[in-house]
Amino acid sequence: LQLRYLQNEKVEAANHVAASLAHEVRNPLTTVLGFLKLIRSNAFSPDKTERFIDISIEEIHRTEQILSDYLSMSKPLSSHRQELDLITHLRSVVEVMTPYATMHKVSIQTDCPAEAVMVYGNSTEMKQLLMNFIKNAIEACMDVPHAQVLISFKSLGDRVQFEIRDNGVGMDGDQLSRLGSIYYSTKRTGTGLGLTFSYQAIRSMQGTVSVNSEPQNGTVFTISLPVA
Ligand code: ADP
Ligand code: MG
Repeated sequence: LQLRYLQNEKVEAANHVAASLAHEVRNPLTTVLGFLKLIRSNAFSPDKTERFIDISIEEIHRTEQILSDYLSMSKPLSSHRQELDLITHLRSVVEVMTPYATMHKVSIQTDCPAEAVMVYGNSTEMKQLLMNFIKNAIEACMDVPHAQVLISFKSLGDRVQFEIRDNGVGMDGDQLSRLGSIYYSTKRTGTGLGLTFSYQAIRSMQGTVSVNSEPQNGTVFTISLPVA
């Protein structure tokens, strides 16, 4: 009986994921389809046509992001672990996210130690989780003047602690208490999967996350990991 119950629960969870994934992907597909039809009609100026193409490209990138969020959720956390350098991983994620930040007039500053900081974990998961925090920080401050994301490190003996700080919209107590719940998102196009995955990945590395936030003033995520 117990086993059947668990299996049903799994099927239900899978259905839920499939339904919300279909919903998330259908919207950008509809948008791109609409723009392709407009472009083919030849009824618009080159400027307008250019704009339709830009929006379509943006929508396709967004779809890719949605799919990668879902994929990282549906895979069990990897058991393939190794010593990896947190700093190199962070630099490469910042490099990937910089065009996104620049596009939204957000500056990213990193205050990294010169030497490597080795931790024990999975490289792909590490990149994914750093990306989730940085992307959220950019999205939180993209509409405020002088938007800034600051990343800094502190060594605490057998642990390393790093901070991702933004001067964005912040969160109230109610929002803070819901952080990390699956599908919890306040964004029009959010999946609410980024932090669920990141919290699980950090926990699996014996790490901890704490959050400090104030509405209108910004947010600091502090992540602590054991050094390898
Ligand atoms: P998504 O980004 O798809 O909405 P996440 O799991 O990454 O999903 O984040 C869940 C929610 O947590 C966001 O929708 C947002 O409300 C809140 N959040 C996360 N990071 C921040 C941040 N740096 N500042 C303000 N709110 C945040
Ligand atoms: Mg996110």
